[in-house]
Amino acid sequence: MHPDLQEILFSSESIQQRVTEMAQQIKVDYEGKNPIVVCVLKGAFIFMSDLVKQMDLPIEVDFMSISSYGTSTKSSGVVRILKDLDLPVEGRNVIIVEDIIDTGLTLSYLIDVLERRNALSIKVCALIDKKSRRAMGFEADYIGFSIPDAFIVGYGLDYAEKHRNLPYIGILKPQVYTK
Ligand code: 5GP
Repeated sequence: MHPDLQEILFSSESIQQRVTEMAQQIKVDYEGKNPIVVCVLKGAFIFMSDLVKQMDLPIEVDFMSISSYGTSTKSSGVVRILKDLDLPVEGRNVIIVEDIIDTGLTLSYLIDVLERRNALSIKVCALIDKKSRRAMGFEADYIGFSIPDAFIVGYGLDYAEKHRNLPYIGILKPQVYTK
């Protein structure tokens, strides 16, 4: 285990197993459709690539970068589009792939943006859900794991741009970010 972590929450194997189940569910739900799968950068990049490899559907992929955090571990509540989609979503079924839902502010904002662009349907697929932290009534359609409030890293998730490449997900030692 990486020395900045206090505990591993999800091993690489358990993540892979859950991602396979999620991809199979999405395949069943979208049979006969060709959705646009939107990766919310940067945190969802590993989840997205593992997920779409197992999604046996004629999908298109696109990427969006939204900032609500900066480099601290607390949400700023301010959401900005850093990189927009390349594809038009009007009349399309959109699946948003997100790493983690915390307050829900980022996704509520993103859904609002895509609704105003007249997407046909919008569903959210998030690997991690921190339900106790929700600031507004927001529910994702596909959830990998629910966790209590803790700051986690790995499998795409960072602290100050570090630890994204860990193959597992773990809780960061508080002394690392209070330093
Ligand atoms: P929300 O807008 O739901 O409060 O925040 C969502 C975003 O905050 C996520 O996409 C992620 O980038 C970041 N975030 C929330 N909780 C964590 C966490 O425990 N670890 C990391 N690395 N990022 C988090």
